[in-house]
Amino acid sequence: MKKLKVISDLGEFGLIKHLTDGFDSENTSVIKGIGDDAAVIKNIGNSSIITTDMLVEGIHFDLVYTPLKHLGYKSVVVNLSDVYAMNCNPSHITVSIAISNKFSLNAIEELYSGIKLACEKYGVSLIGGDTSSSVTGLMISVTAIGQSDKNNIVYRSGAKKNDLICVSGDLGGAYLGLQLLEREKEIFLIDRKIQPELKDCEYILQRQLRPEARKDIIDFFRRNKIKPNSMIDISDGLSSEIIHICEQSGTGAKVFEEKIPIHPQSIQFSEQFKLDPGIAALNGGEDYELLFTIGMDKLETLQKNSDITVIGYICDKKEGLNLVSENGVYVPLEAQGWNPLK
Ligand code: ADP
Ligand code: MG
Repeated sequence: MKKLKVISDLGEFGLIKHLTDGFDSENTSVIKGIGDDAAVIKNIGNSSIITTDMLVEGIHFDLVYTPLKHLGYKSVVVNLSDVYAMNCNPSHITVSIAISNKFSLNAIEELYSGIKLACEKYGVSLIGGDTSSSVTGLMISVTAIGQSDKNNIVYRSGAKKNDLICVSGDLGGAYLGLQLLEREKEIFLIDRKIQPELKDCEYILQRQLRPEARKDIIDFFRRNKIKPNSMIDISDGLSSEIIHICEQSGTGAKVFEEKIPIHPQSIQFSEQFKLDPGIAALNGGEDYELLFTIGMDKLETLQKNSDITVIGYICDKKEGLNLVSENGVYVPLEAQGWNPLK
C-alpha cells in the first residue's frame, strides 16, 4: 500500500506551495497573488464587496459523511453566494485553514481540489490565505471579494411596497439531504456493516453536500437590464430571509404557500421523514438560492426565466409578514418553529 504522505514532511511553506501550485489566475485583475505578504488586485469598479464565512468541523460539517472535495467546493460556494446576493460577481477569494494532525496530505489535497473546482467554475482567483494547525478539528475560512460599480449593488434594505417577491430554484432540498445523511449516520454508528441506503436521493444529497451559487441569475438580470430592489441569499431558510428583507426595508410581506417551489424529491423525502415540505422550505436553510424583490413592471422579463418563481409581494409594514395558505388562512412568518394552521 502506498504510504500516506504526512504534512510535516513538507513544512508550512512547502504545504502552501504544494496546495496552491495548480491554481491558475482566473482574473487579469490579479497583480500579485500568492507568495508575498499580501495580494494586490487592480480595481475594476468603484466599490469592493467583501464577505467571509467560517466553517468549523462538528458545527458546520460532519466528516463522517462529508467528502473533503465537496467540503472545499461548498466552502467557496457559500461565500460566492453572498457576493451574488449583492448583485455582484465575485472575482477573488482567500482561503484560511486550520488542520489537525489526523489529516493526511491526500486529505488536504482533496479539500483543495474542491476549492479549485469552484474557482474554475465561477471564474474566481485564489489570491492568498493562511495555514495553521489545530488541536480540535478542521476549520476553513473563506473570504470572497467582488468589485462593481456602486449603482449595481443591491441591498437587503431596498424592498418597496407592491414589489414582487421572487426566489430562484427550489427550497428545502438541502435540509432534507441533511436529514437523510444524519439518519444514515445513526444507522452506520450502530452497525458499521450496514451499507447506507442512498437510492434516488442524488438531488437532495447534492443540495446539501455540493450546493451551487446562482451566478446564472445575476447574469440574467444583467443581460435583461433589470435590477432587483432588494436581495438576500437563502442560507437560513426562506422565512428568516424574508424577515431580514422586511425589517431592513421597513415593509410587510405576503407569501403564498402553494407558490413556494419545492423539488419532487424533496416532497418524496419529506413524506419519509414525516415532515411538512413547506416547513423544510421555510425553515430548513442552506439552499443558497436567491430571494429578491423587484418592481411589478418586470414580471414579463422574469417569466423568461423558468428558474425564477414569484411567491408573493411586499406590502405595508402594518399589514405584517404573513404566509397565506391554500385555503386563505394567514399565518405570521416566524424565523424558527413555524407552525402551520392546518
Ligand atoms: P505570512 O507569514 O506573511 O502570513 P504565509 O506564510 O502565511 O505569510 O503565507 C505565504 C503566502 O501564501 C501568502 O501569499 C498567503 O496569502 C498564502 N497562503 C498561506 N496559506 C494559504 C492557504 N491555505 N491557501 C492559499 N494561500 C495561502
Ligand atoms: Mg500567514
